[in-house]
Amino acid sequence: MSNAATPFEIARDTLKQLAQRRIAPTPDNYQTLYHEIAGTKPISKDFPEKHLRTLAGALPKSSPDQMRLARQLDEAVKAQDWEAYQKHLTSFINGLIDSQKLAWGELIGELLRQWESKHAGVTAARKRESLEHVLSGSANNPDNLFSRLQSLMRSWGQGREGEKPTDIAQEESGPGSETVSSAAASNNDPLLLSELRELFAFTLETAIATQLIENPQLAHDAKLLAESIRRARKADELKDFLGSLKRFAFKLELLAEDQQELRKSLLGLLRLLVENMTELVIDDHWLSGQIEVVRDIIEKPLSQRAIDDAERRLKEVLFKQSQLKASLFETREAIKQMLTGFVDHLADFADATSDYHDKIERYADKISAADNITELENVIDEVMRETRNIQINAQRSRDELRLTQEKVKTSEERIRELEMELEKTSDLVRHDQLTGVLNRHGLEEMFNKEVARAQRHDTVLCVALLDIDNFKKLNDALGHDAGDQALIHLAAVCRETLRPQDTIARFGGEEFIILLPETQIGDASHVLARLQRELTKRFFLHDNEKILITFSAGVTQMIDQDNQASVIKRADEAMYEAKQTGKNRVVSK
Ligand code: GH3
Ligand code: MG
Ligand code: MG
Repeated sequence: MSNAATPFEIARDTLKQLAQRRIAPTPDNYQTLYHEIAGTKPISKDFPEKHLRTLAGALPKSSPDQMRLARQLDEAVKAQDWEAYQKHLTSFINGLIDSQKLAWGELIGELLRQWESKHAGVTAARKRESLEHVLSGSANNPDNLFSRLQSLMRSWGQGREGEKPTDIAQEESGPGSETVSSAAASNNDPLLLSELRELFAFTLETAIATQLIENPQLAHDAKLLAESIRRARKADELKDFLGSLKRFAFKLELLAEDQQELRKSLLGLLRLLVENMTELVIDDHWLSGQIEVVRDIIEKPLSQRAIDDAERRLKEVLFKQSQLKASLFETREAIKQMLTGFVDHLADFADATSDYHDKIERYADKISAADNITELENVIDEVMRETRNIQINAQRSRDELRLTQEKVKTSEERIRELEMELEKTSDLVRHDQLTGVLNRHGLEEMFNKEVARAQRHDTVLCVALLDIDNFKKLNDALGHDAGDQALIHLAAVCRETLRPQDTIARFGGEEFIILLPETQIGDASHVLARLQRELTKRFFLHDNEKILITFSAGVTQMIDQDNQASVIKRADEAMYEAKQTGKNRVVSK
């Protein structure tokens, strides 16, 4: 349309066109057509409130920064302030770019730095607490975690006294201390960059190289990489470093695959050995039980504890096997000797008697051929002599038979003695032969291990002592065998209810000790209460009759000054209190 047309003419034309083109005469349509006819650009429409509000509403609000942006945009829409809207959006995006630039490496470096710096009014314990809070609250949302960690450091930074790293245990900060916001730690901070470089090198040298003891070449590569990141200052040096790092990572991946394979084959071999052993010890219940446990252990995901346990049980199997082998050998030798002796005597006796029969026959001939009494007398003398001889021989054989019988008896006794000795030496064995849980000897060893572990990791160890209620009555009513079965049942329920890292040991007749590593006393009491509930659900069956077994327990937490005796004594006192206050209870002390 002609530029010369007046606005009036254009307006009239617009109305005409609307009618001709049958376009609805809305203000928007009018405006569009007007500009089309005039050949001009439409001037900015009304503030697009609806669209902007929808946009603001659709933005994520999972972090404080995002929520702040949504609120700011909402306010800008309400005020119809297009400029404010633009400003907030751009500054948010810039912030986002900044935070992406900062990235995790920087953030962790900054966290380390702030962790070691002194901050007014922020104690080490508070730092730890607030960090744990942030970690647990945002563990599944990395973006959120990132921004919350940033805010956390900002809040620490506001109380910072100085830049020098100090012992985080000394937390006092004087008045008038200079406060520097962590925002000052930009990603161009040369101090921060050099710290990060050092951190990277340190990780390569200590965390990675030390894991590669069995692969000296790779360990050497890790150290070289550490050296090169320490030296790298220029872009091309960094590029070289990144290239070597990638190659190194690739080799590590290959190594991990090899180790996985090796682990699989070793486990396969162990499984084969264990199966082979089961075939050999089929006659001994205890041994097959132990082997069954070893087999169970290696079927589960491996841990140091599980391997320790398997090793202990295999050692016991070996020990008991060597004992049995020795006793069997001795017994076999004794019986062999007896049989040889007996057969010799039988042969002697048979020789002597057949000789005797021959002689008697000859004498009979002599007697029938005898002409006079003197001849007969001589023959009778000889017969008498031979008969006496044979008598002596028979007597000797009888005596020797009796001796052999006695030897058999002695051997039987010896076998019984050996069996008893085996029982006695069973304290060398670490597991209780009835229930399969640890015995006192095993407990002692495990106790030392757990105490050392707790000290090393600075964790809490709880000890519980449980004693079956009215066990004597159960024995009296159902018999000792039923009592034994009840003990086996209790041990099985314990093993299945407790965590794999918990230790169960038979402390005495119907008393058991449970070690609960990394467990606070409150949780330990709950564990024991859960065990009690489990026993009410899983009855002990005797002759198809459901028997309820209950126990009283004392729970206590190991403290620095404790030794095994003192901690068990405290658990015992708590258990006694549980008995005194009605049984079937858990008391903690
Ligand atoms: P409380 O509730 O006060 O603990 O009473 P209790 O009867 O359980 O305790 P007490 O100490 O009077 O009796 C324990 C019984 O446990 C006596 C003993 O015969 C029995 N016992 C100990 N060891 C074994 C075992 O290996 N097998 C069986 N069947 N019984 C056992
Ligand atoms: Mg008792
Ligand atoms: Mg008892």
